[in-house]
Amino acid sequence: MTQQPAKTERFPSKPLNRVVASCPPSGIRRFFDIAQQMEGVIALGVGEPDFVTPECVREAGIRSLQQGITGYTSNSGLPQLREAICRDLKTRLNLDYHADSECLITVGVSEGLDLALRVLLNPGDEVIVPVPCYVAYLPGIEFAGGKAVPVAADAEDGFRIHADRIEAAVTPRTKAIMIASPANPTGAAQSREDVQALVDIAVRHDLFLISDEIYEQLLYSGTHTSPAALPGGRERTVVLNGFSKSYAMTGWRVGYCCGPEEIVTLMTRVHQYTMLCAPTMAQYAALEALNSAGEEVEAMRADYKHRRDLFVAGLNRLNLRCVLPGGAFYAFPSIHVSGLSSEEFVERLLMEEKVAVVPGTAFGPGGEGYIRCSYATALPRLEEALARMERFLDRLQNSGSHAA
Ligand code: PLP
Repeated sequence: MTQQPAKTERFPSKPLNRVVASCPPSGIRRFFDIAQQMEGVIALGVGEPDFVTPECVREAGIRSLQQGITGYTSNSGLPQLREAICRDLKTRLNLDYHADSECLITVGVSEGLDLALRVLLNPGDEVIVPVPCYVAYLPGIEFAGGKAVPVAADAEDGFRIHADRIEAAVTPRTKAIMIASPANPTGAAQSREDVQALVDIAVRHDLFLISDEIYEQLLYSGTHTSPAALPGGRERTVVLNGFSKSYAMTGWRVGYCCGPEEIVTLMTRVHQYTMLCAPTMAQYAALEALNSAGEEVEAMRADYKHRRDLFVAGLNRLNLRCVLPGGAFYAFPSIHVSGLSSEEFVERLLMEEKVAVVPGTAFGPGGEGYIRCSYATALPRLEEALARMERFLDRLQNSGSHAA
């Protein structure tokens, strides 16, 4: 047996960073870790495609390794990847960016979000965030020295972002508005009119917009509108996008941001000191994804849509009222009928029926009374999850703790 060194040294008494230390761990990961240690769990917790990365994309990554291309790329990322991204954005979303000065390849949208917040915010600046929202937004704003100002979106009108509520939250300290469409955790997709209304607010109050468009290719009807494509939007919007979700490439860690040169230059400056570049083989894979994986993306999208229709109908049948999500691969049903809090519901559903979902409270204020279920899971497993939820709700009803 190896001997442990004696613990003679004391941990320094100086406090660690207060903002980070006071931030709770992600509410998604908490239940993920418990679920991972149990057998027979149906995991609807983590927001990750169940498809593997398309074969041609995997091969491009392997090829770059076999060719010995294993060094850094330029800080901004492979020029041919940035050019392909700008061409793609122009063709599909009518966005105009210069590949050399207005596009930066990041380590996922996660890094792009962090860079955008660090570059846009000065200490105490406020960012308005429609909630419920993706778990990283509120901590990311605080980490960057800003103050998050949550504004509620409601299930009653499909989690639409109300421009009047956003405008009412504007103060002299407001610096930016976060937009995510389609959104995590609700799947809500905003209409062109609602996005234009947010751009108009930004113009009126001289604000920036941070637009997380990671799910824009997973939209099930209509067309995606980026605020940067609308009158007044381009000069004040940072567009964040990436390959994780639409191309089933979460583990490759490639994303990108596009925006005005002034902002992208400073984002690149932070990136060049903190990250150097996104993984090289993953950038080659992403280039192949843009060039060749269009059909695979379309096939995955059609599959998610089919699952969404069946799963959301199933939830509503169980009286777990759920808005039909416009995009992404999340359902965000109300669990009011159970009479339980979100945390209780999630913990008991996992322990009693081995279905892992995420409490709505993980997604900021306004999430109580909801759960997030990811339907990026094969149909038979979604059907089995619904059967287990039904059994769970029946038991609750019979034991009298049911609210209705
Ligand atoms: N933005 C949203 C809305 C997400 O749902 C996620 C991941 O779940 C991310 C960003 C992070 O994506 P990436 O893998 O590109 O870092």
